Amino acid sequence: MRFSTKAIHTGEEPDLDGKGDVVVPIHISTTFARMNPEIPTGGYEYTRTGNPTRKALEEKLAAIEDAKYGLAFSSGLAAESTLLLSLLKKGDEIVASDDLYGGTRRIFESVMKNFGVNYITTDMTGEIDERIMKGKNIVWLETPSNPLMKVIDIKKMAEMAHDNSSILVVDNTFASPYFQNPLKLGADVIIHSTTKYINGHSDSLGGAIMVNDDNIHEKLKFNQNAIGAVLSPFDSFLTLRGIKTLQVRMERHQSNAMKVAEFLEGRKEVESVYYPGLQSFKYKEIAMKQMSGYGGMLSFHIKGKRENINNFLRTLKYFSLAESLGGVESLIEIPYFMTHSSIPEEERRKKGISENLIRVSVGLEDVEDLILDLENAFTAMR
Ligand SMILES: *Cc1c(COP(=O)(O)O)cnc(C)c1O
Repeated sequence: MRFSTKAIHTGEEPDLDGKGDVVVPIHISTTFARMNPEIPTGGYEYTRTGNPTRKALEEKLAAIEDAKYGLAFSSGLAAESTLLLSLLKKGDEIVASDDLYGGTRRIFESVMKNFGVNYITTDMTGEIDERIMKGKNIVWLETPSNPLMKVIDIKKMAEMAHDNSSILVVDNTFASPYFQNPLKLGADVIIHSTTKYINGHSDSLGGAIMVNDDNIHEKLKFNQNAIGAVLSPFDSFLTLRGIKTLQVRMERHQSNAMKVAEFLEGRKEVESVYYPGLQSFKYKEIAMKQMSGYGGMLSFHIKGKRENINNFLRTLKYFSLAESLGGVESLIEIPYFMTHSSIPEEERRKKGISENLIRVSVGLEDVEDLILDLENAFTAMR
C-alpha cells in the first residue's frame, strides 16, 4: 500500500460480521463486559488500557510511519513525558538539539531535572563534538526545527547515538510522516504532536509515539496504561479522520508555503526567509537528502520597529495571530513573545529568536489570497 491507501484503510477495515461500518465507531464505553472472569471476551477491559477507537488510530499511526507500533496520548507533551519516564532513571542524561519546542525544553528543565535526569543542548547542524555524546542515554532532536527551520542530518545522528549505545528520539511534528520517516534513517523512536499536521484541523489535542523495537514498545505500552495520559475516543476519531487527508493537505501546505516563501524573499521589508524548499536556504542540501518535501512551516526576519510589525500583524485578515501550527487555516506568531517566551531572554537573542522573527504556518487557503493579504499588511506597516 502507498501512503494515502494506508492512511485511509489501515485500522478501519469494515467489520462485516458486525454492522459493516466503513468508518470505525466512537467507542465511548469506559469498561467492557465479559463472559468469564479470566479473559476479556472482546479483547478489551477498561478504556485506559485499551479502546477500539484508539486501537484503530494506533494502527493507522504505525502504518503512516511504516513502524511496527503506534501509541496515542492525550497531547504531544503527554507522549514525551511517558517516553522519558519509560526510558530514563535517576542519573541518566539527555543531549538535545538546541532549537527545540519550548514545551519539550520545559519538561527537561522543570520536570526531569527533579528526578535527577540532566540534559544539555547543542547545535546538531554542524560538526558535533564526540565528547558531548559520551554517556548520554537519549539523543533528542527536532528537524526541521522550531522556529528557525534548522535541518539536522538524522542518519548521521543515529550513527553517533548508536556508537554511544544511546537511543535516538526524533520529533517529526514539523515534517509529518508524509514528508519524512526518521525510523528509516536510523532513529529509534518518533514523537508527534498530532495536534498539528496529523489531525490538521486545530480541533484536537493529541500526541503519538511510533517505534519498531519490541522492548521499547513493551515499556511504553505498560506506562501508557500505568501513567494514563491516553487519547480519548472522540479525539481518536477526529485524528483518524484527519489522517485520511494528510497527503493532500501536506501537498497543498507545501505548494502554498513555497509560493509564500518566494514572495517574502522578494520583499524589501524582509531580511531573510527560512524555508527548506528555497534554493537560498542554508540547509537545502540535507533537507533534499532526507525529506521528500518541505512542509508548510516557515519563518522570516522582518525589518522595522515593534509598532510597524504590530501594524503588519493587525492588518492581516487570513493569518490569525495565534500559537500552534499545522491546521487548515494560516497562523502567524512571534516566537519571542509567544511560543518561545519560556526560553531565557539571553538565550533567545543568541539563537536569533528576536522580536523581529516571525513564524508562519501556511494554511490551505487559496495562495493568491494569502499573498494579497501579506502585500496589504506590508503596505500598512509604513
Ligand atoms: C506542539 C508541539 C509539541 C507539543 O505537543 P502538544 O500536542 O502541544 O502537547 C511538541 N513538539 C513540537 C515540534 C510541537 O510543535
